[in-house]
Amino acid sequence: MGETFTEISQVGEFGLIARLSEIVQPYRDSFIVKGIGDDAAVYKPTEGKVQVVTTDALIEGVHFDLTFVPMRNLGWKAMVVNLSDLAAMLATPRYALITVAIPRKISVEMMENLYFGIKSACNEFNFSLIGGDTTTTFGNMAISVTMIGEADKDMIPYRSGARVGDYICVTGTLGLSYAGLKILLREKRKFVEAEDKQNFKPNFEPFLKAIEKHLKPMPRLDVAYKLKDLKVKVNSMIDISDGLSSDLKHICRQSNVGAEIYETSLPIDDLVKKIAKDEFNEDYLMYALHGGEDYELLFTVSESELGKLNELHADVKIIGRILDREQGIKLIKEDKSEIDIESGGWDHFKIKMS
Ligand SMILES: [Mg+2]
Repeated sequence: MGETFTEISQVGEFGLIARLSEIVQPYRDSFIVKGIGDDAAVYKPTEGKVQVVTTDALIEGVHFDLTFVPMRNLGWKAMVVNLSDLAAMLATPRYALITVAIPRKISVEMMENLYFGIKSACNEFNFSLIGGDTTTTFGNMAISVTMIGEADKDMIPYRSGARVGDYICVTGTLGLSYAGLKILLREKRKFVEAEDKQNFKPNFEPFLKAIEKHLKPMPRLDVAYKLKDLKVKVNSMIDISDGLSSDLKHICRQSNVGAEIYETSLPIDDLVKKIAKDEFNEDYLMYALHGGEDYELLFTVSESELGKLNELHADVKIIGRILDREQGIKLIKEDKSEIDIESGGWDHFKIKMS
C-alpha cells in the first residue's frame, strides 16, 4: 500500500515492455540465438533431446483473486503451474513465453512486481523468459504462459503407461494448498463484511504453512531430477493440479486400469486436519482427495523399482496399487471399508473465487 501507481497509458505499451524486459534480462543461456525484442525468439535445441511444450492460463476471478495474491506470487505461480507439468514429463525447463491481458486497475509497478516473481522462478529453476506480449483488457486480468523443456525421449512417463500391479506413489503432502485457500477466502469475506476496515486484522498466523503452499507453490522438479539420476523407470506420471482423485482418474482412464489407495498411507499434514476440523468442521480426507493446486507428483512404478525408491527421496510415499480396470478406483478406509472415488461428483470442491 502507498506504492506508486503509474498508469500503463503513461508509459505506453513499448515503454512497459522495455521496463519489463529489463527485469528478466540478461540471458545466461548460450543456446538462445535471439531473445525478447524481435518478431520471434530463436533458440538452438540440445542435440539428442526431444522438446516438450506445455501451456497454462491463470484467469483473475477463476484461478486467482488480486485482493490476497501479491503480484510477485502471481508471477511465480504462473511459472510454477507450467514447471510442474514439465516435471510430470521428466523434462528440464528451458524457455518460457508469457502473454498478459492487463486491466486498467493494474499499474506499471504492479506489472514490474509480476515480473520480479517471474525472474525469481527463472533463477530458481534455471530457465529463461524469451518472449512476451501484453494487451489491454476491459475484463479481468489474464495470464497465459507457454513453457518449453527438454527430455530424453525414452524416459518420458505418459499418463497411459500404468500397469496392473504398479505401486502408486505421491510426493509431499496433500490438501495443504486447498486448506490455505479456504483460510484466505474466509479472511477476505470477514474483511468485506467488517464495518471498521481500517482496523481489520486477518487471522493468518496459525495457518501460514498452508497459505504459503497456496501462494508460493513449488514444482517438484527436485524429485523429477532425482528420478532421472537414479534411472527409475517411471511407468506413468501426472502432476496433482486438480486434486488426487481427479488426477489419479486421468492416469487410470488413459492406462485403462483401476486403482486402490489406502487412507492410512495418504500423506496429510496435521495442519490440514486442524484447518478442516477446527476451522470449517469438514472432513480432512476430502481436502486430501479433492483439494487441488498442491503441484505434487503422482506416479506409478513396477515392483522392481521399489529398491531405488528408498534412496530417492524422504518426500515420496507409496499410497496404493494399480488394479484391473474392472475393480474401479477406490479408497480403502482405515476400517477396511471402501469408497468409490471414480464416480466423481466432486465439482462442489472446486472453489470459485468470486
Ligand atoms: Mg498437469
